[in-house]
Amino acid sequence: MTVKRALGRGLLIAFLLYIVWLGWQIAGFREYGTGPSRLRESVSAGPEFEIEGVYHVHSRFSDGRETVDQIARTAARKNVDFILLTDHGNPNQKALDAQGRKEGVLIIAGTEISTNRGHLIGLGFARPDPSRPFSREAEAAALEIASLGGFSIIAHPYAKTRWSWGRQGEFDGLEIMDMDSAAKSHFLRTLPYLPALVVRPGLALLKMIRAPKQTLRKWDELLRRRPVLGFLSADAHFLYGPVFEIFHLHVLLEKPPAEEFETAKRQILDSLRRGRFFSAVDAAARARGFRFWLQDGSFHAAAPFSFAHETAIIHDGREVYRSRDAALTFSPPQPGVYRAEVYLRERSPLAPDVPWIISNPIMCGDRK
Ligand SMILES: [Zn+2]
Ligand SMILES: [Zn+2]
Repeated sequence: MTVKRALGRGLLIAFLLYIVWLGWQIAGFREYGTGPSRLRESVSAGPEFEIEGVYHVHSRFSDGRETVDQIARTAARKNVDFILLTDHGNPNQKALDAQGRKEGVLIIAGTEISTNRGHLIGLGFARPDPSRPFSREAEAAALEIASLGGFSIIAHPYAKTRWSWGRQGEFDGLEIMDMDSAAKSHFLRTLPYLPALVVRPGLALLKMIRAPKQTLRKWDELLRRRPVLGFLSADAHFLYGPVFEIFHLHVLLEKPPAEEFETAKRQILDSLRRGRFFSAVDAAARARGFRFWLQDGSFHAAAPFSFAHETAIIHDGREVYRSRDAALTFSPPQPGVYRAEVYLRERSPLAPDVPWIISNPIMCGDRK
């Protein structure tokens, strides 16, 4: 009887300790940064307009749980300017038909093609003739997308645990992290945070994110041969509200987005294609205002944030510079491709080795 009672008391204490710990975790989850980011409030940083969107979203036109209208409403509530809808298909004609400005959110459709190598995202292509769907062969599909003015992105490259995309590739981009794979692979490790899904869903999702070391290594390897864009991907199928807060693409436009949908869509896709964007884990801290650029042979980064953070510059898979300053200048010792990563250095639900911001690569001088 006494043993039973002692055991019961022990369990009760353990449970209470867990509740206190969870409460402390939830209370300690604060968002850094300021202000909403709707189109109408889009700020101008120098000559550029920065707008934010979510890349890789599924609707009921494939295996997503909600309709495009519901998704647009959720996106509007979360202050997202645009959604890149990528329903499965070759391409998904219904998703292409559903494009437009809804609830003030630009719904831009591409498609996710199941190929022999894995899932390939196509964006910005002119609609192919319905009698000539995209190939199921990855390289052929990428060429078809390119011939229709679009560009292709390798989706969740390590979902099958090993690289299946060959050495050269005709692909323009790569997903560096995606929320769907993170949730599937690290669900068990985040079990203690699951009750937080009810009050602070972002906290539970952020805890599922692990440093994308393998993908970053592969990206740097690919960058030795050709420019490849890096994307943080939602791969959203449900829980749209919380998921739309996690990863944002910050797209830089020369002019504010046009009122007319087709023009605004073209502006966003052109910037994406040219790498005029960066990705960030915005649920950990708002990344609005970050810039990384090349001027007069030197790299410059602006990370104008009031909280502690650290910017690293990476060249050929190696970190060549690191700074805690809000503005930095770096003279590259040799020509080549350089990119930046920013890490949060204040208490944050994001693991310290997970990059908070990932810039796109910039070529300096001639390729060796
Ligand atoms: Zn996929
Ligand atoms: Zn997907």
